[in-house]
Amino acid sequence: MQCQEFLEVAERWMEGECDTAASAHLDACPRCRALVADLGAVRDGARLLEAETEPPARLWTAIRSQLEAEGVIRPRRSWGERLADFFPTQPRPALAAAYVSVLVVAAILISFQGVGEWNQPMVLSTPA
Ligand SMILES: [Zn+2]
Repeated sequence: MQCQEFLEVAERWMEGECDTAASAHLDACPRCRALVADLGAVRDGARLLEAETEPPARLWTAIRSQLEAEGVIRPRRSWGERLADFFPTQPRPALAAAYVSVLVVAAILISFQGVGEWNQPMVLSTPA
């Protein structure tokens, strides 16, 4: 087997396919042995990289907790919790007082206008 022939079967040989001619060539050829060693290192490195690019879920949880504790991000809240902010079920005394004040002012204004209408002289239509 020549180097060119070995290159054609190298990938299958590295995946474990038994080829006695390829094995014999590797024993005799330092160039192909070096190539197989390099390819093996690249393959192993790629596997490590694959494993490292997908961090475990617990790592994300820990990072999120840390960022929330530092105030960098706010805790994830459900739509229900966000809606509750707009439509509070708990009474808010300050807000209730503001509503009552607006109602009282409106009632006073309306009553003054009503008095004004009542105090105006009644205009009678004169017969033509
Ligand atoms: Zn060779």
